Parts: sequence; C-alpha cells; structure tokens
Amino acid sequence: MLTECPECKRQVSDSAEVCPGCGYRLLGRENLVLCPRCKAQVIPQVRPPWRRKWCPLCSRPIGGMRTRFRVFLAFLSAGVIAVAILVAVLSGPTQTYRVSMSSESGNSVVVTTVRARSESEARRRAEAEYPGYRVNEAIVVWR
Ligand SMILES: [Zn+2]
Ligand SMILES: [Zn+2]
Repeated sequence: MLTECPECKRQVSDSAEVCPGCGYRLLGRENLVLCPRCKAQVIPQVRPPWRRKWCPLCSRPIGGMRTRFRVFLAFLSAGVIAVAILVAVLSGPTQTYRVSMSSESGNSVVVTTVRARSESEARRRAEAEYPGYRVNEAIVVWR
C-alpha cells in the first residue's frame, strides 16, 4: 500500500517509518518529544533503571518521568514538613527537667534528668525510672 507523505507529497509505502525522500517521520509520531537541548523532535530512548527518557541525539535525559518525579518529591517534602509542624504544634515543646528524688526511707537521694513536655510528665517518667523513689523537685534546666 502506498500513501502520500504529508511533507513532500511523494508516494511512499505506508509501512515506511521515515519518508525516503525528505526524512519526515511517518510512523510513531505520537511518541515524538521535543528535546529541550537539541530543539529537535526525537523518539526518546527509554533506559533503566528508572525508565527515564533519553534523547538519542544528545544522550541527555528528557522531561517526562524526571519532571513528574520532581513534582512528586516536592509534594512529598511539603507533606512531610506539614506533618512535622502539625506534630510539633500538637505535642508542644520538649524540655529537659532535672528531677531530684529521695527514697521512701529518705536515706538515699537521686538526681536524674528526663525529657518531658510538662512537669507532671517529668515526675511520672522519673518515678517510673526509679521505683521506690519520690520526686522532691523537677526543674527545667535547658530549653
Ligand atoms: Zn516526504
Ligand atoms: Zn537532544
């Protein structure tokens, strides 16, 4: 079967990929991509490992996958930052408390530091760490 080349109007085989007269690409035009470096319409080569598209003329990657991947990364990092801010706002700042404790007999004294969001949390943590000791005082030592 013959068909007409839309570029030079020559009769060419409809199975020809490229017009033998003028080089116009007849088949696979839907796969053509404009290479931003060569400024030429090329059929990109797809290479592993990320199935990224490459220009066959200048052997550099072409948009497509790469751009989508960047957009994806941008959304991902924005999401991570948003979640981090939300968690920080909801949970409040963590502070270091110096907790002094004494045993129930009063003979033994222990001073420890715990990180907590409130004084009551600091007391709970210290008491969990040293069973049998009671908190005398919990003070913030570092903000
Ligand atoms: Zn032609
Ligand atoms: Zn190129």
